[in-house]
Amino acid sequence: MRRRRSTKILATLGPASSDAPTIGRLVEAGADAFRLNFSHGNHDDHAKRLATIRAVERDFGRPIAVLADLQGPKIRIGRMAGGEQRLQVGQTFRLDRAQDEGSGSRAPLPHPEVFQTVRPGIDLMLDDGRIRLRVEAASESEIVTSVVEGGVLKDRKGVNVPAAVLPLAAMTDKDRTDLAFALEAGVDWVALSFVQRPDDMAEARKLVGNRALLMAKIEKPAAIQRIGEIVELSDAIMVARGDLGVELPVEEVPALQKRLVRLARRQGKPVVVATQMLESMVQAPVPTRAEVSDVATAVYDGADAVMLSAETASGAHPVEAVAVMNRVAEQVALDPLYRSIMDAEHADPEATAADAITAAARQVAETLSAAAVVCYTTSGSTALRAARERPGVPILVLTPRLDTARRLALVWGLHCVETEDAHDFTDMIERAYTIAKAQGIAEPGQRLVVTAGVPFGTPGATNTLRIAWVP
Ligand code: PEP
Repeated sequence: MRRRRSTKILATLGPASSDAPTIGRLVEAGADAFRLNFSHGNHDDHAKRLATIRAVERDFGRPIAVLADLQGPKIRIGRMAGGEQRLQVGQTFRLDRAQDEGSGSRAPLPHPEVFQTVRPGIDLMLDDGRIRLRVEAASESEIVTSVVEGGVLKDRKGVNVPAAVLPLAAMTDKDRTDLAFALEAGVDWVALSFVQRPDDMAEARKLVGNRALLMAKIEKPAAIQRIGEIVELSDAIMVARGDLGVELPVEEVPALQKRLVRLARRQGKPVVVATQMLESMVQAPVPTRAEVSDVATAVYDGADAVMLSAETASGAHPVEAVAVMNRVAEQVALDPLYRSIMDAEHADPEATAADAITAAARQVAETLSAAAVVCYTTSGSTALRAARERPGVPILVLTPRLDTARRLALVWGLHCVETEDAHDFTDMIERAYTIAKAQGIAEPGQRLVVTAGVPFGTPGATNTLRIAWVP
């Protein structure tokens, strides 16, 4: 099942998409990777979803990346009576430390840091900014507000305090428990929410080790201040536009998205563009024209992956949402302008053997109109550098490690296949063209540009480029 696009699709699983037939249809429609959102559901739910993904992966015979997205120090209200309450503009609304369910005049807020930090006059944004409360008075036990923007306030909705820096730890106790569970279950990627400092990534890295790759969700102004260091300490980043657009004026998000995508691409780190990409499809079977354009923009910018959240987790049309994303990304890939944008944004190789070889492979493949670049890799690092080149031909990644193949499923342009390492040069070429033909990537009479490390099977030794005819 070869994709006709290089941009990957990351779909969040939830109540609307947890059974095997639906997950299978999502993969068929175009999902390359799945997000388990630890802000919702329990360990049992996530374990079942992961087992189902692995069963679907076996059926399709294609590696699938699984991302465990940790909730992070997200501030949320507690439960509301009846699940939701309506707040009217101008009314008084209290947030307090009591544990009983919220009503039309109050909600529980189990986060002492907020009570200690907020001051009269600043705004609290609830439910991604849909509801806005202005603080009138605050004490250790109660915040009295007036409702500036009203609406229906549902259970456990998020609270952002853009005007204050909250003294939050990078990972909560829940994150640590969820992380231990996710690593034990065998996820491929872990995303850290509300990263503020480079140290947050370093701390998580100590816990994760090399059991998974680490993604920094960029959603706080503090993270933007030190973005270079954060990208350096991360394996990937996510432009988490939901919280970013609440923490910062929403009109600043598009420029930031472009800046973050460019920065990550320069460093050869995958970048995911996330949130509200096809939001109207939570209810409607077709997207708005503006949403289609938003997906296309991320693809034109060269993002590694575009993400669906509620559209696939709880929406009425999860499979259609993936299918729309797939069609949009395929259509952009056909546009000659897309190639010229990729070329214009091309980052120069760094002075390493892997970059020298992958840059040469791209050039040779494009000069010869080869069918693909074939990249032998163990750890996946050479494949990441090959993706950084953003070549105009597919990149077939051959790796003896299933965990590498799964991790790389999230990365721009990489079509991963688990196979034994090559034993010698003849095997290297035969294995490359046999798999390329079987995967629908090359046909007899075409050429392949193959990169590998010799001696074979030595990680980090990419030093060889061969041009091979497909018999
Ligand atoms: C976001 O805020 O854009 C985001 C992806 O985070 P979450 O969906 O976990 O709130």
